[in-house]
Amino acid sequence: LTGTTLLQNGVYSKGTAYSEEERAALHLKGLLPPVPATISMQVEAMMEQLRAFDTPFQKALFLDGLRSSNETLYFRLLLEHIEEVLPLVYTPTVGEVCQKFSHLFRFAKGLYLSIEDKGHVSEILENLPQEAVDMIVVTDGQRILGLGDLGINGMGIPVGKLALYTACAGVDPRRTLPVILDVGTNTERYLNDPLYLGHKHPRVSGQEYDDFIEEFFQSVYKKWPKCVVQFEDFGNNHAFDLLARYRSRYCCYNDDIQGTASIVVSGFFSAMRAKKSKLSNEKILFLGAGEAATGVAGLIADAMVEDGLSREDALARLYLFDSKGLVTTTRGDTLAAHKLPFAKDIPSVKDFEEAIRTLRPTAIVGLSAQSGAFTESIVKAMTEINERPIVFALSNPTSKAECTAEQAYTWSDGKVLFSCGSPFDPVTYKGKTYVPRQGNNSYVFPGIGLGAILAQCKEITQEVFLSAAHTCADMVTEDDLAHGSLYPSLTRVREISHLVAVNIIKLALATGQAQIEAPADIEKFVTDNMYTPDYE
Ligand code: NAP
Ligand code: MN
Repeated sequence: LTGTTLLQNGVYSKGTAYSEEERAALHLKGLLPPVPATISMQVEAMMEQLRAFDTPFQKALFLDGLRSSNETLYFRLLLEHIEEVLPLVYTPTVGEVCQKFSHLFRFAKGLYLSIEDKGHVSEILENLPQEAVDMIVVTDGQRILGLGDLGINGMGIPVGKLALYTACAGVDPRRTLPVILDVGTNTERYLNDPLYLGHKHPRVSGQEYDDFIEEFFQSVYKKWPKCVVQFEDFGNNHAFDLLARYRSRYCCYNDDIQGTASIVVSGFFSAMRAKKSKLSNEKILFLGAGEAATGVAGLIADAMVEDGLSREDALARLYLFDSKGLVTTTRGDTLAAHKLPFAKDIPSVKDFEEAIRTLRPTAIVGLSAQSGAFTESIVKAMTEINERPIVFALSNPTSKAECTAEQAYTWSDGKVLFSCGSPFDPVTYKGKTYVPRQGNNSYVFPGIGLGAILAQCKEITQEVFLSAAHTCADMVTEDDLAHGSLYPSLTRVREISHLVAVNIIKLALATGQAQIEAPADIEKFVTDNMYTPDYE
């Protein structure tokens, strides 16, 4: 690549950063402003532009443009200003970007597979520019964030998520592949939108859907036998089944279920340090019984078993409360398979506060997208029952949170052990400052992906998610705990991801899941294989 062709290639271009010598050798003389810039000058200039936009949405579009003109610079910006830029690349801004995706589309990136392409997936893979792919994030757009069925417009999610794998863990962006499976959409708004870019028919499901997914997996693993596939934002009706069908056949996982589980369990490990207690002493009531809540409950059961409880005793300490009330076998409805292990043989209760007063849990975990569901009297009830009540208000976005950080600290008179799904500012209560931190999946999934890629894991077992939970909790300092923080600072995410990956590789080697020879120095092995956004 030389001249204009090089400058127009976003993957390789350095923009204004070519030196005099490079300009001479690559036929770039005269094509750029005369004085070579450094990458730090470029970052400074781009941040100045970024900050000049008024809205996060405009900033996200600017970043998308930057990415297609200079990918290295884009990732440099993301890495150096992670707290400012991450929310523009993923939640919450990515939601708005997805909703308007068809209207905004400018730069081709990733793979679009339609159910109409059934029988031709392998051929289509040959059109991709990537020779090697390590990491795939795939969605069918059925349940994008809390926004529902966005059809093909859901492509923003795999693109954004993979950017986080690169920024947070150094997964090489040239070896990642975002995938959207277009199986139609049931959203009227898009079916009637003349500019919608997906096929306009209702969602296909049943055998035809299953066959399409099967072909996708077989074609992908025929071409890249060692890649890792992450499911994202599939609807409840498919997410659990697909995970069950593929988790031991291929190296794949579902972040909504398993990544969430890992990060929430990590918050529990930190809370146990703060309380000087053991997880096996906890009794946990979940508000919500969907992908996130049952994923978390399942991994907590595993952690309690690790702590010495029998599985039966562990499950007995975990309660779900869904849209119909406390999940019990006595309720008279047919329970979905993912709720069954946690259903109790006791009378059901329709009121959440009544459930708290009856069950006397040590912790409540909100994963229900029910804004304000943790009321003052609920938090006060938890504080009456417990010296240090655990209250996790994890629903996203901020508008859906079960309670705010300020409410949790105030209502519990500063006693709560709190974490949240969306960022909240520090809270000062009675002269003490609390720093609530997000139970953000980004602490764990990028390192899990990196570890699985580097160890060439056969499959991603539950132990992997427990390992990541321990690693992240171990990075929480005494000072963090003293301020009520159950997670480390997000600015340490590269360091955390590195250690998550190191520990996963060790685990995979020890359990026979790895398909590599043990590296002499695992830490160095991971460091050497992390992509850094520098010009070559
Ligand atoms: P989901 O699979 O759709 O599950 C939602 C659950 O909430 C369902 O079990 C539903 O009950 C229950 N629910 C709905 N209305 C309710 C009500 N009035 N009272 C009690 N329960 C009610 O969604 P999900 O993927 O689990 O996500 C749920 C929430 O968690 C979202 O807001 C998401 O943003 C958040 N989340 C946060 C993180 C994080 O912070 N790291 C990670 C993942 C998800 P039925 O089963 O009866 O329908
Ligand atoms: Mn998701």
